[in-house]
Amino acid sequence: MLLFTCPYVLSLSADRSIKFYSMGLISYLNHNNFRLHENPVMHPESADRLNAIDKAIAESNLLSTLVNVTPRTAQNADLCTIHSQSYIEHIEKSAHMAQSENKLIQLDGDTFMSPRTYEVAKLAAGASFTAIDSLEQDNISSAFVAVRPPGHHAMAQRQMGFCIFNNIALAADYARKHLGHKKVLIIDWDVHHGNGTQDIFYNDPEVFFISMHQYPHWPYKTGWLSEDGAGDGKGFNLNIPLPPGTGDKGHLMAWDSIVAPVSAEYKPDIILVSAGYDAHQSDYMSNQNVTTNGFGLLAGRLQNLAQSLDVKTACFLEGGYNTEALADSVVATLNALSKDAKDQKTKSEPELQPITDDQSPEELKSRLSLVQKHFAKYWQSLK
Ligand SMILES: [Zn+2]
Repeated sequence: MLLFTCPYVLSLSADRSIKFYSMGLISYLNHNNFRLHENPVMHPESADRLNAIDKAIAESNLLSTLVNVTPRTAQNADLCTIHSQSYIEHIEKSAHMAQSENKLIQLDGDTFMSPRTYEVAKLAAGASFTAIDSLEQDNISSAFVAVRPPGHHAMAQRQMGFCIFNNIALAADYARKHLGHKKVLIIDWDVHHGNGTQDIFYNDPEVFFISMHQYPHWPYKTGWLSEDGAGDGKGFNLNIPLPPGTGDKGHLMAWDSIVAPVSAEYKPDIILVSAGYDAHQSDYMSNQNVTTNGFGLLAGRLQNLAQSLDVKTACFLEGGYNTEALADSVVATLNALSKDAKDQKTKSEPELQPITDDQSPEELKSRLSLVQKHFAKYWQSLK
């Protein structure tokens, strides 16, 4: 059951309700227990990330726009829709070991389980389902899942890159099985390639995965534009490998020239976003140059796209390791999602402007051109 905790919404008069519906409320999924997943000291993925986001939201003027929704916990049967039973059992065994020995278990080079991690990862996965359910409310236009551990590197059969279960993949599958959506669009703007999500849906035409990421960069083995899907999923996996040093302008150029036209041609039933903020110029996990303004502009593009297609949006937190930049960028995203598309440029508020140029503009144009040429055989809008 959803636990909406926004009494202000319930007290609105009919006229105000209509206005708020057009502006769009955002269901916001967070839980104190997301902080109980522990990593080693100095590990970049920590509970401080969520604490910073909470503080920034509390200091923003967003509170009347957000509807706090309590996530449910995913059950084994829920996880099996994406992950193999053998992998889930491996995680369960690791969890028992972490609990009985009261210590961190290292699953791979950078992914760890603490005594409460399994419980938290199931809550994170369950938040994906709750977010999709919340979009069924007429007055909710989008959802933001402020979750940890993140998910987009997790594969069906193994953890990777701080991720245990692939939250957005679980949400995509849930949206089509429970809401009947035939076309699910996933846009991944985390600086790292969403290799887990790509792998899970590589043969699947019902889930179109578009990733814009720094390339080359971790995880190194994936993310080039030639990885374009397989079988019935051919053409439904689109990687936009951006050169290091790409700034606000380059990210917006990639969106305007590729993401927006292809998405409009696909005509999705719902848009899910792997919202990572580690392409921020202040984030030490990348060499990209996106500003907080830049993320606000990207989210504004997302809102315009969703409204033009008359679909709803759910964003899932992935990376972002400079806590201040992360928190400010999440607020910028929520601000953009709270506005009606036609109000993105209002006279009362100064219009956001892209700030940063691209270090290698010719390389960037060359990459975007390569992507357009490669995918023009699948998508008329790129011809
Ligand atoms: Zn990342």
